[in-house]
Amino acid sequence: MAEHVVRVGLPGAVMPAGALDVDTGRILAPDLGESSAADVLADVAAERSLLLEAQRIARLGSWTFDMASGLGYLSDGLCRLCGLSPRATLDELLALVHPDDQPAVARFRSRLCRYRSAQPIELEVRDLAGERTYLVRARTECDANGKPSKVHGTVQDFTKFRAMERQLTQDGRLFREAQRVARLGTWEWNTKTGDCLWSSMLYELAGVEPGTKITYADYLELCHPDDRGWVDQRWQELAGTKRPVECEHRVIRPDGTRRVFRIRGEAAGPDSGDAVMIGTAQDVTEQRSTETRMQRSSKRFTDLVAITPVGIALFDDAERLVDANDALCSLLGMDLDQLRGMTAEQLTHPDDRPTSRGGSHSFHSGQRVLATATGKPVYCELNATVSVADDGQRFWLVVFADVTDRRRAAERLRYQATHDELTGLPGRAAVKELLAKLLGGRDYERIALLFCDVDNFKRVNDSLGHDVGDELITALARRLERGLPPSCTVARMSGDEYVVICSDVEEVGGVDALANLAASLLRTAVPVRGQLLRVSACIGAAVPSGQDTSGADLLRFADAAMFAAKARGTGRVSLASDALIASANSQMLLEGQLREAIANDQLILHYQPVVGPDGTVLSAEALVRWPHPERGLLLPGEFLPVAEQGDLLGELDRWVLRAALTEAAEWPQINGSTLGGGVGIAVNLAGLVPGDPEFVEVVCATVAATGIAWDRVVLELVETSLIDLPSRSREAMAELVERGVRFAVDDFGTGYSSLARLKELPAQIIKIDRRFVSGVATDASDFAVARALVDMARAMGRSCVAEGVENATQFHVLRGVGVDAYQGWLLSRPLPAKDFREILKLGPVHIPSGA
Ligand code: C2E
Ligand code: CA
Ligand code: CA
Repeated sequence: MAEHVVRVGLPGAVMPAGALDVDTGRILAPDLGESSAADVLADVAAERSLLLEAQRIARLGSWTFDMASGLGYLSDGLCRLCGLSPRATLDELLALVHPDDQPAVARFRSRLCRYRSAQPIELEVRDLAGERTYLVRARTECDANGKPSKVHGTVQDFTKFRAMERQLTQDGRLFREAQRVARLGTWEWNTKTGDCLWSSMLYELAGVEPGTKITYADYLELCHPDDRGWVDQRWQELAGTKRPVECEHRVIRPDGTRRVFRIRGEAAGPDSGDAVMIGTAQDVTEQRSTETRMQRSSKRFTDLVAITPVGIALFDDAERLVDANDALCSLLGMDLDQLRGMTAEQLTHPDDRPTSRGGSHSFHSGQRVLATATGKPVYCELNATVSVADDGQRFWLVVFADVTDRRRAAERLRYQATHDELTGLPGRAAVKELLAKLLGGRDYERIALLFCDVDNFKRVNDSLGHDVGDELITALARRLERGLPPSCTVARMSGDEYVVICSDVEEVGGVDALANLAASLLRTAVPVRGQLLRVSACIGAAVPSGQDTSGADLLRFADAAMFAAKARGTGRVSLASDALIASANSQMLLEGQLREAIANDQLILHYQPVVGPDGTVLSAEALVRWPHPERGLLLPGEFLPVAEQGDLLGELDRWVLRAALTEAAEWPQINGSTLGGGVGIAVNLAGLVPGDPEFVEVVCATVAATGIAWDRVVLELVETSLIDLPSRSREAMAELVERGVRFAVDDFGTGYSSLARLKELPAQIIKIDRRFVSGVATDASDFAVARALVDMARAMGRSCVAEGVENATQFHVLRGVGVDAYQGWLLSRPLPAKDFREILKLGPVHIPSGA
């Protein structure tokens, strides 16, 4: 290879002694010894070829400039690199430099001439087209006096490197941008030294001055104190196991602001050694804040659940309690640990378990009775909703509203509605309910029902007053309750009637034993207000005749049996026999038929004349009859009890009142009648009584509708419906009396009020009962009573009517004591309307002379 020595415009530049020409490999000076020179030359040649090869790969050329001679030398490699022909001069090379870079080149040259340091200086220049970049490196060499004498330099094609660098810069910029956008930083952690390398983004995210030296301890310092412990643990795990770790923790930046970082880390590649971990850190504060909001609301929900007074529990799919709030814990008197794992069934009170209820044990809705730790029942209304947890598991959220108080209040109300106020015993409604329940059950054959009616209770009530009567009723109730076995429920139906419902008659030795036990309990002397009242009761007993026997049936049978017992005397017991049941059933049939008969005007009235001492017909009593399609003409005694049982008396009275007044309004007027304008019409009232709020209204409306004169109307009522009337009823009666209506006390003497009370009875007519009349001629005491009655009635301005006058003797005796009017078979049987009209036409009734 030729040697080029180029003169360049640098004054005094010479090649140094012993310097190596890299292109030729020749040692320029000084000369070495022969033998060693050969060795050296061989070594140098080998080294030179290596250098050449290296230069070629590195796209590197070299040059030298001698200041003393001003000559420059370019290596072949350099010429090739710059596209110059071999032996090109330094000036030719400089001409290739981009004009914009020429000033820098000039500065570089002058710097090199002054430069005394052995350190190379660098300059980067572009080619004319500006497409390629070259790095020029040069070092000044000084002579023995320390004066710069030569410059050695290299030129390296830097184009690719710069492009790469540019790309790298760009990549870096993009990467940083991406990190900024993603709020993502990168890090490297040397687990041996504890040193960390952070990307600038991470510095920014952590709010740490960029470039600050960071150690693992510094990083932990940034962690929220509450997270520090476990975060450290995670990273130590990574360092130990090299398994990737991902976690999220709070960071408190040096300025105090709080962020949430999501950090991933893994072991760096094997090149980095196994102590280096790398990873990313992302600021997820904003994302998490929405989650935090949700968590907060869920926290609020949790708080709400905790403080809500309603019991709330979570159940898993297997209906096991997973979680419960304080309210449920205190409701059930258990703590959460006790409750956890309990099934819905275990929480349910034994009485409300599926077996007893027949339903499922699920807590999905409806009412359930739960049990407290001590087994006390808690009535709850349930509401449940199914939900799915994050892990896909189904669970139930159940709300338990304690309705125990509500239930108690309802029970109290129901108790009041179903229980008798006086005795506190269950009332009629409760009896019906209990019977329905028992008869619907499996053990219906063991049921027995007693109907107990206190003998002559009316007499106690009437003679000693209602308060004494009430005390007696209460005392007897307590005796029954205390004396009967637990399988018996004592109830009060009305007045002096008790009902005993026995759910297991076998337990007391059969229905007869039970009835006798009740009878013996009621046969007693009760101390009331300082006096001993001897009482007894009649008892009717009944048992179901089959599975279709209803509660109402059983009550009817027992009631009928009780009536049968009454018929035999006081303190009697009677069991509803088949015959009795049959008659009770026929009574019920009759009741329906009677209802129909009243509604369809199928009843008729007979009229019995009431005559004066001379036989003049003063009035007629209307007596009801029922021409039954199968049973013939029925008398009141046969169907009035049925009407009473079926609560039809009011209906019946209204019908009779209207029919009687309508008929009477048509009667021909008889001259000589002492009763004002015409023959009077007496109507018996038992259901429509003055106590009835509609009493006056119904009477007035009927009188008005029939057009009869007010003073022809007589209303007959029994003693008991006339005593102790409230003032409102008295006023109602007075109002009718004012218009001309007269009231008659029917059957006087059969009630228990004393004669003295006669004065209090708001009636104008007294009807002396048949019982006194029948003995008036034969029995001295009956005569005395009749005479006293007449005297008293007269003294009080009332008129007297004798009932049931059957013979002339009775008539004459009564006429002797001054009775005002007479009624009885002696004078006339009750007659159909048509026949009575005939009687009216005939004038005064013939009275046989005394025997
Ligand atoms: P009462 O009001 O005492 O009626 C008189 C009863 O005595 C009638 O019986 C009558 O037929 C009967 N009688 C009349 N004269 C004699 C006699 O000389 N000897 C005998 N042994 N009896 C005589 P009746 O019609 O069977 O009525 C019975 C009861 O039925 C009546 O007793 C009355 O309380 C009630 N009653 C009759 N009709 C009606 C009615 O329309 N409405 C209401 N609520 N009750 C009625
Ligand atoms: Ca009567
Ligand atoms: Ca009577």
